[in-house]
Amino acid sequence: MLAQTSGIRYGKINISITRMVKRMARGKKIYDGKAKTLFKGTEPGTLIQYFKDDATAYNAQKHDIISGKGVLNNRLSEFFMNGLNDMGIPTHFIKRLNMREQLIRSVEIIPLEVVVRNYAAGSMSDRLGIKEGTHLPRPIVEFYYKDDKLNDPMVTEEHAIAFNWATQTELDEMIAISLRVNDFISGIMKGVGITLVDFKIEIGRVFENEYQGLIIADEISPDSCRLWDIKTGERLDKDVFRKDLGNLKDAYTEVAKRLGVL
Ligand code: C5P
Repeated sequence: MLAQTSGIRYGKINISITRMVKRMARGKKIYDGKAKTLFKGTEPGTLIQYFKDDATAYNAQKHDIISGKGVLNNRLSEFFMNGLNDMGIPTHFIKRLNMREQLIRSVEIIPLEVVVRNYAAGSMSDRLGIKEGTHLPRPIVEFYYKDDKLNDPMVTEEHAIAFNWATQTELDEMIAISLRVNDFISGIMKGVGITLVDFKIEIGRVFENEYQGLIIADEISPDSCRLWDIKTGERLDKDVFRKDLGNLKDAYTEVAKRLGVL
């Protein structure tokens, strides 16, 4: 209302006031990550997640700005999270607000990244000498301790329990959630000619009165998955950036187009 009134009376000033009002709706910045920024939401218990164009790899030793990446990841994460919510696998996603922002539930992040692998690739191939592309006899779930200073080391359930990062019950639930996510995304991707090689998710606690539950947080996008074209083996994920294999935006756009997101 303020902006509209001012717009009529002051012309150009309207634009700056409108911007100011939009920014105010976001609330205070509470976290600035490598690819996303979090702001307080307008409602209690909510946050606004802003997707940047920054691409980083090797713990930010490699960095670039890929114009439009944030827009694509915002849409793709919305697509996957919505699908998971519909399947009864709860996520933090509430709604997309605009090209780069989505409203999410605030969670207490468990400091463990959960990686599920269907085929050997990346750090598993490096660590264990298993040829990239080897089909694993069953999906393998791994935990990594979220700590950039330590390069997110792989940890066991014993570490997580001993250091109070998560309880055994939570770890069991995290594995169950991750395997459901794997089934869901693998199926969707297979339908559009893409293999889900592996992915990483983050999980957080939400509290409702006495009840505590776990929900999926962060993002699900080609930044956090390995996606290979079934026919050609072409990489359609962040490895394109990590290994200089081509144009990252084109790869993500291809995924979005096949999923009907664009
Ligand atoms: O590097 P690594 O092979 O362990 O990665 C496994 C999967 O987890 C890949 O899909 C990768 O994109 C994702 N990942 C991630 N964020 C990290 C580490 C891995 O999204 N910090």
